[in-house]
Amino acid sequence: MIHTRRKSRAVTVGGLTVGGFAPITVQSMLNKLPDDVAGNVAQALALQDAGCQIVRVAVPDMPAVRLIGALKNAVSMPVVADIHFDYRLAIACAEAGADKIRLNPGNIGSSDRVKAVADACRVRGIPIRIGVNSGSLERSLLHKHGGATPEAMAESAMRHARLLERYDFNDIVISIKSSDVAKMICAYEHTAELCDYPLHLGVTEAGTYRMGVVKSSIGIGSLLQKGIGDTIRVSLTDDPVREIEAGRDILRALNLAGDCPQIISCPTCGRTKIDLIGAVNSVEKRLAGCKKAITVAVMGCAVNGPGEASAADVGIAGGDGCAVLFKKGEIVRKVPEDRIVDELMNEIERL
Ligand code: SF4
Repeated sequence: MIHTRRKSRAVTVGGLTVGGFAPITVQSMLNKLPDDVAGNVAQALALQDAGCQIVRVAVPDMPAVRLIGALKNAVSMPVVADIHFDYRLAIACAEAGADKIRLNPGNIGSSDRVKAVADACRVRGIPIRIGVNSGSLERSLLHKHGGATPEAMAESAMRHARLLERYDFNDIVISIKSSDVAKMICAYEHTAELCDYPLHLGVTEAGTYRMGVVKSSIGIGSLLQKGIGDTIRVSLTDDPVREIEAGRDILRALNLAGDCPQIISCPTCGRTKIDLIGAVNSVEKRLAGCKKAITVAVMGCAVNGPGEASAADVGIAGGDGCAVLFKKGEIVRKVPEDRIVDELMNEIERL
C-alpha cells in the first residue's frame, strides 16, 4: 500500500504544478553540446514525444542562453536552465523565458547576487531548484557530519533554501541526490521532514541503462511508495528518451501514472506452445498511447493463465497453436495463433 502522500507546497513551473497533490511529473535533461542549437531542439522534441513533462538544459556560458529561447519556441513543456556558479547566467535565463532555474544559491557568492537572482525569478514567477549532490557538499558540513551523510545533505539543502528565504523567496524545489541508493533514500526522507518544499527525486550518476534503471527504480520507487516526491528524473548514461521511458514505467509500476494500461504476462515455461514473448512485446507496443486504466493479461497456458490473471480486465491464455480470450477470468472465445494480438486489441478497444 502507498503511504499517504507528503503534503508539499505547490510550485508552478511554466503551466505545470509541481507539489501540492499535483500528479508526479517525469523530467529529463538534454545532453547535446550547447552550441548545437538544432540538436538540442530536436532532442527536446523527441523527449516531449516520449512523454517528458519538464526538460532541463545546461547553460554553461552566455552564448548558451540562446538555447532557452530556441527551446521555448519549439516545445510546449516547461524549460529549466541548469546553472553552476554564475548568477548572471541565471538572471539572463530568467529574462530569456526559462520556466525554472536550477542553481544552488550558496555557490554564487555574495548575498547581493542571491538577492538579484531571487528578485529576477520572483518578478517572473519562476521557481528555483536547489540541487544538492553528495559529491559536492560544503567542507564545513563534511567536517561537522563526518562525511557526506544523509543529514549533511539535508542540512546543505536547508542552508541553500535559507539564503533564498532571506529575500522572501519560497518558490523552491529541492533535490538531494547521491549515487548511493540507500543514502539517497535516507537523505530525502530526512529533508521531507525538515521542510514542505516539493522534492525532485533522482539517483545521480546511476550508471548505464540496466543498472541505472535498477538503482533509480529502487531509490525513486521506495520514496514514492512512502508518499515522498513530486517530480522525478531517472539519470542514465544513455539516450535521455530512455530516462523518460524508465521514469514513466516507475510511476506505472506504482499505479501513479494516471490512466494507462498495466500488462501482466507470465515468464513462460515448458507448457507454453505459442510465441508468447513476441505476442506480449507486440501488445506492449500497440498499447503505448492507450489511456485506459485497464489490466491486460498475456499468459502462456490455459491451465494457469486465466486463474493467475483473474484480476485482468481482458487477456489471452495460450494453447497449442491458438489461445483463449478471456474477460475478468471468464473465457470468451478461442482465437488462432496468428490472430491473438489483433483479437486482443479489438477487445481492448471495446472496453
Ligand atoms: Fe507456464 Fe502457464 Fe504459468 Fe505461463 S501461465 S508460466 S505457461 S504454467
